[in-house]
Amino acid sequence: MQSGAEAPATGSRGAEQPGVVLDGVTKAFGAVVALRDVSLRVAPGEIVAVAGPSGCGKSTLLELICGLAEPDAGEVNSAPAALMPQRDGLLPWLSALDNAGLALRAGGASKKAARAAAHEHFEAFGLTGFEKARPAELSGGMRQRVAFLRTLLAGRPVLCLDEPFGALDALTRGQMQRWLADALEREPRTVVLVTHDVEEAVLLADRIVLLSPRPGTVVETIEVDLPRPRARTDLAVVELRERALHALGEPSTERA
Ligand code: ADP
Ligand code: MG
Repeated sequence: MQSGAEAPATGSRGAEQPGVVLDGVTKAFGAVVALRDVSLRVAPGEIVAVAGPSGCGKSTLLELICGLAEPDAGEVNSAPAALMPQRDGLLPWLSALDNAGLALRAGGASKKAARAAAHEHFEAFGLTGFEKARPAELSGGMRQRVAFLRTLLAGRPVLCLDEPFGALDALTRGQMQRWLADALEREPRTVVLVTHDVEEAVLLADRIVLLSPRPGTVVETIEVDLPRPRARTDLAVVELRERALHALGEPSTERA
């Protein structure tokens, strides 16, 4: 959870925040070109989803934004960003409370202070009663909420969420998508949400950036100018989902 370096640490909100800017970014691993000439802008307070097929460089994009990797060409400028990794990254030997407070501990907070700060959110995160539970004792949805809380408590203005609900069953995923939409409505953040699920992108984002198969390049950007809360059955949601699938070259799908 390192930041993109020199950008000044700002509060979690405010018009002076630079948000995220990628300009003509290319990134390769040896002979494998993961991303090619990707440009992307996320304004402060905006939720941008990045969707595309597996292996098209989505996780790499987040690593660049968080300063965990450097581009081979192009420029990355971002306010300090916290990463919620693709696998929840919870430490199995720590309690839910200590996992949630991990970024605070890493920042120098005492165990007591980190626990107190994390615990303030446990009720809103539906985690009351599970403070001492280890990750193995939590449901998949709870683990994702602990991981999300840890990302929030890192106190960085930009949140990079890497397929946060990808490993959940369909029912839990739907519940968690609604929960995240509500949480961001209550407390807006600058969010880059990576997903391979275009429906999730339409439900949650202000804008969707669609990437091609590797090497990932931007094939289309879709503005999601729809009121919230959004339901997967809303006609406008279905239409945008179909448009996104079409842009990705996928046959339309009917989902249960
Ligand atoms: P996505 O998240 O969209 O599935 P990734 O960003 O994880 O895609 O990976 C894009 C491509 O880059 C893949 O082919 C992957 O194997 C490769 N890749 C990613 N990280 C590394 C790395 N550290 N070393 C070598 N290859 C990598
Ligand atoms: Mg990935």
